[in-house]
Amino acid sequence: DGTTTVTAGMVDALVKTHAPLCMKNLHSTLTATGHLKHYGRLQYNLFLKELGLPVEEALVFWRRSFKHITDDKFNKEYRYNIRHGYGLEGRRMNYPAKSCARILTQDQPGPQDSHGCPFRHFSTTNLSSAMAQHYGLSPAEQSEILASVKQGHYHVACTRIFEITHQKQGVKKGQGLDGRGETVTHPNRYFESSWKLAQA
Ligand code: SF4
Repeated sequence: DGTTTVTAGMVDALVKTHAPLCMKNLHSTLTATGHLKHYGRLQYNLFLKELGLPVEEALVFWRRSFKHITDDKFNKEYRYNIRHGYGLEGRRMNYPAKSCARILTQDQPGPQDSHGCPFRHFSTTNLSSAMAQHYGLSPAEQSEILASVKQGHYHVACTRIFEITHQKQGVKKGQGLDGRGETVTHPNRYFESSWKLAQA
């Protein structure tokens, strides 16, 4: 409802439980390597901002996550960018979190990057292992998702994963994010729908 305060310590559980694959992938890369490259930080920082993580908590979260660097390096190289995403530096713009359309078409990731949309930007092998790792999808469920991806229907694939992983909350095939067939167009809408179902 926009009034819940999200803290740095809550991010891990919230993302693992409610986030779409693009954000789970950024989170697990950050956790595993202690780093994210520029566009990955940009995509994830704005997602966390819109999720309700206040800037002070974002700074705590990123400082903890970048576990291989000194405070000095963090303050010099990353603090500004994180605050910039919150509209507190430079031109002080209120940057919105990136929609799926923007993630799919802008700033195409290279081989070393972890930003982007896994449905569009991962190889079939990497996508399959990501689906198994993050959602425990069965081979049959994975085949269904991969068929949508092959046709270029990335949002359909993402929506179907939402449905499969919310079956316990009563979500059936074709019901989408809102029970009436809404498909995924924004990572934060995916998150909010998942979070709402958990409150019901
Ligand atoms: Fe993220 Fe959108 Fe791709 Fe889903 S379809 S993984 S929300 S960019």
